[in-house]
Amino acid sequence: MISFKNAYDQVLQHILNLGDETVSLLESTGRVLSEDIRADRDFPPFNRSTKDGIAIAFSAIEKGITRFKIEGVLSAGMPQQTLSKDTNCFEIMTGAVLPEQADTIIMYEETETEDGYISISKTPNKGQNIHRQGTDEKEGAILLKKGTEITAAVIGVLASVGKNEVTVKKLPKICVVSTGNELVEVEDKPLPHQIRKSNSLSLFAALERVKITPTLLHLADNQAIIEKELEKALNNFDVLMLSGGVSKGKFDFIPDALDKLGITKVFHRVAQRPGKPFWFGVQNEKQKVIFSFPGNPVSTFANYHVYFLPWLKKSLGVEAEKHTVILDEPVQPHPTLTLFTQVTTACHEGKLTVKTLKGNGSGDLVSLALADGFIRLPQGETEIPAGTAVDFIKAS
Ligand code: AMP
Ligand code: MG
Repeated sequence: MISFKNAYDQVLQHILNLGDETVSLLESTGRVLSEDIRADRDFPPFNRSTKDGIAIAFSAIEKGITRFKIEGVLSAGMPQQTLSKDTNCFEIMTGAVLPEQADTIIMYEETETEDGYISISKTPNKGQNIHRQGTDEKEGAILLKKGTEITAAVIGVLASVGKNEVTVKKLPKICVVSTGNELVEVEDKPLPHQIRKSNSLSLFAALERVKITPTLLHLADNQAIIEKELEKALNNFDVLMLSGGVSKGKFDFIPDALDKLGITKVFHRVAQRPGKPFWFGVQNEKQKVIFSFPGNPVSTFANYHVYFLPWLKKSLGVEAEKHTVILDEPVQPHPTLTLFTQVTTACHEGKLTVKTLKGNGSGDLVSLALADGFIRLPQGETEIPAGTAVDFIKAS
């Protein structure tokens, strides 16, 4: 059995590089950029008005002029005009191009209109209310770096530089494999000795949130079937994500089957709770990675978040986020195991605090639905006092 730290480091040493692909702009949400995005023109691309009002030449103010003849009205989307003399003004709307020869904008609130003339009540500052060309970004500047996760705000930037298609990191093809003779389909009515599958569905939902649509496969606890089906799956997928069949039971055939199929075991069993019997292996030449989680729903769910998500981020070239939270109550660590304890979070005076959920062990998936995530408690003898900062793993 190895320590959590060792297991985590080993998982992150076996990332996959899956290459890049080009997708349409709106398909790229939630993906990771694999190209730098540059400004295709200045931002803003012209001197734009930031107010509805009038555009004047400041030279008029210096001459004491406070009443201007209206030369025309400029709306956003009109090409640039020229102010013909400094006794004139243009009415100008937010987003419109500043006319040539004008250099100052006065908002309507500080003006009065009468018979084709506009007078001003307050002396303006030269150059006010203009969002100057190129002051946000210059043409050619890098706006977004490769490795950026594409959020809704990023989509806005991509749209504004004309990226109709975006080059993103490819995602791994994943087969989620559930195992167990006791499991029936969601739509079936289980007999008294059976239960409905839940892990594979929960993993499916979690993977969809990171834009991966996995294929689901279910295997009975039968060594021959397991070997045959896993061999096929290994040919068709980059990652196998199994649940169940990796503990010490008489029907836990997965480690043997993977061994027979030429998968190199990196480790089996981690000093942690839940999720201790986690089996992790690779087939380096063929670029395959196998996460084989113990079947208890809380174990599968915790290990997915603890190991798989950071592995995925690193494979995609994204920095893993590290979050800490403050304990709202004292907690007791385990003397030899790293604990992943389910918690609910609350925000108190600018700090994210957590309370532990009293789940009924790693089979209790109902308590899981109430949890906002897990805190990681390193092994130890002494109680950790309230107010201590601990690592937090957010649930999907
Ligand atoms: P195992 O790791 O195969 O020994 O399974 C441990 C426990 O998790 C057993 O009670 C199983 O019935 C349960 N279990 C295994 N796989 C699933 C699954 N896909 N969905 C729900 N429960 C499961
Ligand atoms: Mg089983």
